[in-house]
Amino acid sequence: MLLVACVAVIAPLAAAAATKEAGTVPMAADNPFARPSTLPFELPPFDKIRDEDYTPAFEAGMREQLKEVAAIAHNPQPATFENTIVALERSGRVLDRVGTVFFNLSSCNTDPKMQEIDTVMAPKLAAHNDAIFLDAALWARVDKLYTQRASLKLDPESLQLLTRYHVQFVRAGAQLSAADQKRLRAINEELSTLTTRFRQNVLKATADGAVVVGKVADLDGLTPVQIGAAARAAADRGLKDRWVIALQNTTNQPTLASLTNRELRERIYRASVGRGLSGATDNRAVIAQVVKLRAERARLLGYPDHAAYVLEDESAGNAAAVEGMIRQVASAALARARAEAADIQKLIDAQAAARGVPSFTLEPWDWSFYAEQVRKAHYAFDQAQVAPYFELEHVLQDGLFYAAHELYGLSFKERKDLPVYQPDVRVFEVSDADGKPLALFLADYFARDNKQGGAWMSGYVSQSKLLGQRPVVANHLNIPKPQAGQPVLLTFDEVTGMFHEFGHALHGMLSDVRYPYLSGTAVPRDFVEYPSQYNEMWAREPKVVEHYAHDYRSGAPMPPELLAKVLSAQKFNQGYATLEYLEAAKVDLAWHLIDASQAPAAAAVPGFEAAALKDAGLDYAPIQPRYHSGYFSHIFAGGYSAGYYAYLWSEVLARDTGQWFHAHGGLTRENGDTLRRMVLSRGRTEDPQVLFRNFYGREPDIGPLLEYRGLAGGG
Ligand SMILES: [Zn+2]
Repeated sequence: MLLVACVAVIAPLAAAAATKEAGTVPMAADNPFARPSTLPFELPPFDKIRDEDYTPAFEAGMREQLKEVAAIAHNPQPATFENTIVALERSGRVLDRVGTVFFNLSSCNTDPKMQEIDTVMAPKLAAHNDAIFLDAALWARVDKLYTQRASLKLDPESLQLLTRYHVQFVRAGAQLSAADQKRLRAINEELSTLTTRFRQNVLKATADGAVVVGKVADLDGLTPVQIGAAARAAADRGLKDRWVIALQNTTNQPTLASLTNRELRERIYRASVGRGLSGATDNRAVIAQVVKLRAERARLLGYPDHAAYVLEDESAGNAAAVEGMIRQVASAALARARAEAADIQKLIDAQAAARGVPSFTLEPWDWSFYAEQVRKAHYAFDQAQVAPYFELEHVLQDGLFYAAHELYGLSFKERKDLPVYQPDVRVFEVSDADGKPLALFLADYFARDNKQGGAWMSGYVSQSKLLGQRPVVANHLNIPKPQAGQPVLLTFDEVTGMFHEFGHALHGMLSDVRYPYLSGTAVPRDFVEYPSQYNEMWAREPKVVEHYAHDYRSGAPMPPELLAKVLSAQKFNQGYATLEYLEAAKVDLAWHLIDASQAPAAAAVPGFEAAALKDAGLDYAPIQPRYHSGYFSHIFAGGYSAGYYAYLWSEVLARDTGQWFHAHGGLTRENGDTLRRMVLSRGRTEDPQVLFRNFYGREPDIGPLLEYRGLAGGG
């Protein structure tokens, strides 16, 4: 089970697996995970699921799958594709159901009881996974089939499935000696415990790090809606006459763009970067131990380091390719960032001179605030002016759903009759162009304290013809919920985020494959962000914007000149955005290019990170990594270790695809259907690089990405 920051991919077998010690807790007959849901699309019966149901279902699910796997491994019949590989695909249904719901809700709607279960269950699931992938009899059958693959006369999708299983067994250690396998199991269990602790520490540190403000005057610069949200956040914490600025998961905090009080900005910034570095939520020792164990595991499996192990199975192939891409983009980004900083410093100096006070040097907590002023000066609009045009319901119905209708013929109908896990969550039934039911889409957009930060997509049911399942997918964002009766007005970044996550959702919903293992978003991490980043293009495509960007009060469309400003402003501050991302990608790689003996002591964790940035020439004081290690959940609690670079890698494909659409007439059914047929419906039934090449007609090119970000041509 991977809990990934941006897209939670549930691979059936790797995901849910059983435990080495058979559990003793029996599963009641009426446990909601005992049998497939009878709701449309097998939507989980959220109204019937109680925390007490998870542990018995996990344990029964693991027992059941171990029994199924033993029957496959010890089948007296010779191994066939059907009785081995397809049988594995069919195994572990109970575990799949409970694991999917549990881990999705652990991310978006957790509670202390679930966190306890997570802590207990994570090492058991890791051990269960090993019990399957290190089963010698099972491995012998898989290996034999793979050796005979040429004579099995398999169709391409089945051959791909066999190949993927073989790769997964090898990568899980199936070929190791018994002694090495024993050590591997111990490492996997310890890692699962550590990553669970990391995730829980970040959640708590982020909630605890919220900044309490005593005077409303200190919130000068925030909009009334934002101040209302801060008052609500204080009330939720039982604080009277106080305002609370909750933290979001990144280093930079959105309120820093508008708060005029410099001391408060610094407090918020320091609260953000201090997460995971001290006290009860200190993650330094967790990090040191995680990187050490990952390095040791890589060595056991025959790789020089964890990055080499991870990247071999990604499109990139190896660390040198990733570092090459980072270098290629870094010089353009750094040059642009320095120019942006110079503009900001000039503004700071001019304002100080005008007031007759000493100037100061630009600090990280100043960047967004002054960048916003530079933006206003350059583009002559501010957030308050555009916000009324980006009202959530319009963006959803007339933006996301509209584009999906024009491109793929999809229609959306809200289902208020179906149960949800939280009253803010909405369910939409999706119909295909021919009117047939295609999928369910869950929209969970608002921030909550019991929800992980950031935005991501997750799946509750994977599309698969083998199991007769149609997809149920969800999008999760952290849009601050306004006070009752207030409209939900978004920034253009939030609009783009909605389109991004919906791109993942479409990848899941348009999946049209036989095997669950190869379904939808179950592709390499450096490919999975391709459909989502491609879908972002529609947020700014004039034909789509004209359709959704209407003033929520009057219905008036956004004036064309304001729209032009918003769109051209998208290239603004891209030096900053690109550099903070590259810094985080570099930190991630550095942690995973070491040998176990090079893992630092806990106290040296921040120093290790700083040295990595310095060595790469990416230590630029005003711009800090998008995530510092202490709260870098993608790599220490999610599935993105040695993989944070994947966003930029996939973005190359996404921007090339944007260029392809424009060259072929833009938003049309014909174009949408081509991409759907060649990429979006294919999951991992073919090598993703081949899917892209067949669609695009050639290898990816970095040019359109630099152009899209305004980094091209030395500008
Ligand atoms: Zn994504």
